[in-house]
Amino acid sequence: MNARTNQESPYQGRLLIDGQWCDAADGARLERRSPAHDQLVAVYAQAGVQDAQRAVAAARRAFDQGPWPQMKGAERARILRQVADTILARKQALARMESLENGKPLAQSLAEIEGAADLWQYAASLARTLHGDSYNTLGQATLGVVLREPIGVVGIITPWNFPFLIVSQKLPFALAAGCTCVVKPAEVTSGTTLMLGEILLEAGVPAGAVNMLVGEGSVVGEALVTHPDVDMLSFTGSTAVGKQALAQSAATLKKVALELGGKNPQIIFADCDWEAAVDAVVYGVFFNAGQCCNSGSRILVQDAIAEKFSAAVVERSRHVRVGDPFAEGTQVGAITTHKQLASILAHIEGARRDGAQLALGGARMNRPGLYIEPTVLTGVTRDMAIAKQEVFGPVLSVLRFGTLAEAIELANSTLYGLSAAVWSRDFDTCLTAARRIRAGTVWVNTFLEGHAELPFGGYRESGIGRELGRLATEDYTETKTLHMHLGARADWYLAQA
Ligand code: NAD
Repeated sequence: MNARTNQESPYQGRLLIDGQWCDAADGARLERRSPAHDQLVAVYAQAGVQDAQRAVAAARRAFDQGPWPQMKGAERARILRQVADTILARKQALARMESLENGKPLAQSLAEIEGAADLWQYAASLARTLHGDSYNTLGQATLGVVLREPIGVVGIITPWNFPFLIVSQKLPFALAAGCTCVVKPAEVTSGTTLMLGEILLEAGVPAGAVNMLVGEGSVVGEALVTHPDVDMLSFTGSTAVGKQALAQSAATLKKVALELGGKNPQIIFADCDWEAAVDAVVYGVFFNAGQCCNSGSRILVQDAIAEKFSAAVVERSRHVRVGDPFAEGTQVGAITTHKQLASILAHIEGARRDGAQLALGGARMNRPGLYIEPTVLTGVTRDMAIAKQEVFGPVLSVLRFGTLAEAIELANSTLYGLSAAVWSRDFDTCLTAARRIRAGTVWVNTFLEGHAELPFGGYRESGIGRELGRLATEDYTETKTLHMHLGARADWYLAQA
């Protein structure tokens, strides 16, 4: 399938407020053109502050008056499962929209939509198992019960790199807990989120329980972050905006969960499974054109194999198939925005100025669309900006180390702590490194795998909180203590007499 030979009218996206699709109060609209073909793919109603206020008011009403928070877990689970089934039934259309807006290969989009459906299924199971606690150990006169209650209205803000997958890491878990939500996708990739909105209404999610706003972060995003009726913010995006959102949320003291950037090391020891490690390094950095919070954007290679391993990585990287997201066999698609393309090229230029050597790529590809050559920089040292900053593009930095202790120290030397990988056949090496690396996920002899059951999130400037896993719904709850007294109560006044 080729998007250019299959022209169709652009998707018309509106705002979802209180169960109704509507235009922005001021009639504003925004257009999205595809990064691979520069084709108009969507026209959206563009929300402003007034629309954000209406959406929050609808979510507030739906929370305070119900019925969503009061429904049985089993009933919420049934609706979430229905959503999962419909996502699978519409996966082709969803994947097509994702690839058009984001630029990623169609086969990858399909896999992400299927993975997202699994998250809705998993969240449905948590809707039924979410529970509190009780204490029957406080003496004859006391019974303690700890209730779990939905936290309230959740503002969900998502980025453009995995639009459908990331909204599915948040929304079903918030809904499973009984929360109501206002969702703001990244303005350049809002299509699949709005298509999800249609699925939610069809599945029976009540009016106002989920509201969706397409719009700019500095306008609509900020309106959610600062709104007193938003009880919790769940944000995925850059560390810079995450920090700003945290600061701006302080005035209303809302709970904040942040999934932010990474500068994730893959540590390659001399005794690794060579073929598997080379493959994972190439996949780890070029997957999604490197626009991935988990991108393995730096490798730390043990001195004894550094030259040969780097050469093998460069050779394999030459054969990565970059191109049209809709062409059969494409492994890496387009860069999602002009801004991101410029930022990646500036990072490469900066690294060269700092003394890194360009072993492969380094430039925009000579073809229509936003494409960057798979790029490998060798001779990178820890003091260089490229060793510390997130590039968010298909750019690998190669660093070297001697001992296990040096590798761990180097791995922990950035401000990030999202993920890492260790490659060695030695059990002690793997586990020692895995236990001492400060990151939310450490892969051992694999990379970029994920499961709904396993929590995901970052240390340090990679974020606050965890998504997924069996505790994911608990994050969207408050606890309430019921302290209950049985029988006669000792009188305080008389006790003093
Ligand atoms: P971004 O921070 O620019 O934008 C993310 C979202 O925040 C968008 O919806 C945007 O409109 C909104 N936003 C922008 N300014 C805002 C403001 N002032 N107030 C409120 N919202 C605002 O990030 P991006 O460029 O869309 O995504 C790339 C970043 O996301 C990378 O740093 C990447 O590492 C990170 N990311 C992290 C994870 C994770 O799970 N840790 C996953 C994917 C992406």
